[in-house]
Amino acid sequence: MALNEFSLIEKYFSPLSISRGDVLLGIGDDAAITTIPTGKQLAITTDTLVAGVHFLSDWSARDIAYKSLAVNLSDLAAMGAEPAWVSLALTLPEANELWLADFAAGFQELLQQYNVQLIGGDTTQGPLTITITVHGFINPNFYLRRDAAKVGDMIYITGELGAAAIAVKNLKENSLSAADQAVAMQALLRPQAKIKEGLALASMAHAAIDISDGLAADLNHILNKSSVAARIDLEKIPVATVCLSNLAEFDARLLALTGGDDYQLCFTAAANQQAAIAELARQLDCPMTAIGVIEQGTGLCCQWQGKELALPLKGYEHFR
Ligand code: ADP
Ligand code: MG
Repeated sequence: MALNEFSLIEKYFSPLSISRGDVLLGIGDDAAITTIPTGKQLAITTDTLVAGVHFLSDWSARDIAYKSLAVNLSDLAAMGAEPAWVSLALTLPEANELWLADFAAGFQELLQQYNVQLIGGDTTQGPLTITITVHGFINPNFYLRRDAAKVGDMIYITGELGAAAIAVKNLKENSLSAADQAVAMQALLRPQAKIKEGLALASMAHAAIDISDGLAADLNHILNKSSVAARIDLEKIPVATVCLSNLAEFDARLLALTGGDDYQLCFTAAANQQAAIAELARQLDCPMTAIGVIEQGTGLCCQWQGKELALPLKGYEHFR
């Protein structure tokens, strides 16, 4: 590498370390030291993104950085946690300074948006891979788990589904108009972690998960962990306009059910929370749509025009 590991960290990553009062020691020592606020507990999550699997190496470094951090923040959103600190393990084929500057800029954008401090990491040479760990705070009495869905709960989705999946489909088929492609790629490259929503839902909802692998697959995780079944209506799933305007309605809805990478939240809440959730959706300007109910039993039943679809459907496969 033209630039050694230490000068690379000094030049590109140390400047990102905006300072939070709860970080006693950040980048530069053998480990970081932080303080957890009184009364809070830590939620910790790690996701690795591999070039050619989770993103394509010809995407801009800024987009790769943004997405890598956003999907990690999304896991905290699904717990009802408030993000605080992040560490970044970066494996790079080479020390390309333009790429690094662009990567740092994409990372910085989200660090600032969520007031999260980069507190350390590791830098190695090898195939492009990004591993991020984020730490966030939860209120020990109010956080969201996959195993907390209860029979009678309503099942909700934030936002709309399908746009990221049609972007992936379009990378292979190249059939969208330029305008629709831009909308779809924005959803794929720039997922918005639903942090505010997760924090607010922590005291209202029972179970939650962020939709990374597709609604059908991710809702199934809630069902398995909670030992319950679900009945949902394909007609009720909020589908991105870019899907409805480019596919037959059934195909658009199926893509919204099975397509991944949207990073919306799927959550369950008692039926008597309906008005409170509608009010929250209005306050946060984020649609929260009821798509079905939790029932006794096992498995996911999805109805379309009164008929049951045969599930499981083929899962989401990213880029390979
Ligand atoms: P060590 O040999 O003790 O693991 P390193 O040389 O790997 O230390 O890292 C030196 C310092 O730089 C550490 O504080 C580490 O957390 C930080 N660091 C290394 N790589 C990154 C990175 N990509 N982003 C942020 N901090 C990093
Ligand atoms: Mg190291």
